[in-house]
Amino acid sequence: MTTLDPQPLIDPHGRRIDYLRISVTDRCDLRCVYCMSEQMQFLPRAQLLTLEEIGRIAERFVALGGTRIRITGGEPLVRQNILQLFEHLGRLDGLRELTLTTNATRLRRFARDLRQAGVARVNISLDSLDPQRFRRMTRVGRLEQVLDGIDAALEAGFERIKINSVILKGRNDDEAIGLARFALDRGMDISFIEEMPLGLIDDHDRAEAYCSSDALLDRLQTRFRLTPSSARSAGPSRYYEVEGHEGRIGFISPHSHNFCADCNRIRLTATGRLLLCLGQEHSADLKSVIRAHPLDDAPLDGALIDALRLKPAGHDFDLAGIPVIQRHMNSTGG
Ligand code: SAM
Ligand code: SF4
Repeated sequence: MTTLDPQPLIDPHGRRIDYLRISVTDRCDLRCVYCMSEQMQFLPRAQLLTLEEIGRIAERFVALGGTRIRITGGEPLVRQNILQLFEHLGRLDGLRELTLTTNATRLRRFARDLRQAGVARVNISLDSLDPQRFRRMTRVGRLEQVLDGIDAALEAGFERIKINSVILKGRNDDEAIGLARFALDRGMDISFIEEMPLGLIDDHDRAEAYCSSDALLDRLQTRFRLTPSSARSAGPSRYYEVEGHEGRIGFISPHSHNFCADCNRIRLTATGRLLLCLGQEHSADLKSVIRAHPLDDAPLDGALIDALRLKPAGHDFDLAGIPVIQRHMNSTGG
């Protein structure tokens, strides 16, 4: 067992880990073509952590010095009673930032309550502004519902809203300027994401669909005056300020601009596996620890601290061939 020091959450590469992303479910009401295969098997509910167990792990992470938590999934807002978890986390002393990643289909129902529970910032996925294309990229989604969810988020007064767009060559790369304008005109940020090879998908060849952030930057610079921003978020986005706009344009570029050296993140899957890296399989089973010790924090604290020793230097993403990482993004928690 590790003895507690004042800054226990430091990995063997000297990176301070203060950010936990929690996937509260692998289920989702959409089926985005880069995230899932068409026929997905979801986990039996009995294998998931309860909301109380998730809350307890989050509490110990914060007690050990963690300051940021993002709730993600799958689609977090499809999990029953999810508001209870946000309300619990929103009351944690020491938690500086509680954020959410969502596809926005349920934001009309939840946005105001989430803001009241203490959610400061929201990331919303939106890959196309064309209804038919949006349907093709999500397989089942209705653009109108998502745009209404975005309006609800804007009305709820979050400190910051960011649109996340995964860009695939030949699918939606021609929409980069339109998506940026949509976000910036509403005072939101936008990040363009290079697709990551997580899990087998049946829709497209990821190497062929690869669209580099640099190619997008060139295209965006024909319409916007961009200057690199010194501001960093807690996540992997590299930002640019946009003349005449409050919102920024960011890029998440796992292939073209590796961000592992600054990684401050770990991830908890819905089944209680603590993943030390999005692109590797190093992990620790926290579910067994909390179920074996429901009333004693020391074993859970020890497991969290010991797990950090497993954090690898970085991912080894390769778009060609069969993905090395079999888990899809929905079970990993993006
Ligand atoms: N369902 C929510 C949503 O879509 O925002 C939260 C979970 S989703 C897995 C989180 C983020 O991961 C989304 O912005 C999504 O676009 C992104 N994502 C999913 N699969 C990806 C992949 N293979 N490569 C890169 N980003 C991916
Ligand atoms: Fe669902 Fe988000 Fe994956 Fe799309 S990216 S299928 S919305 S979990």
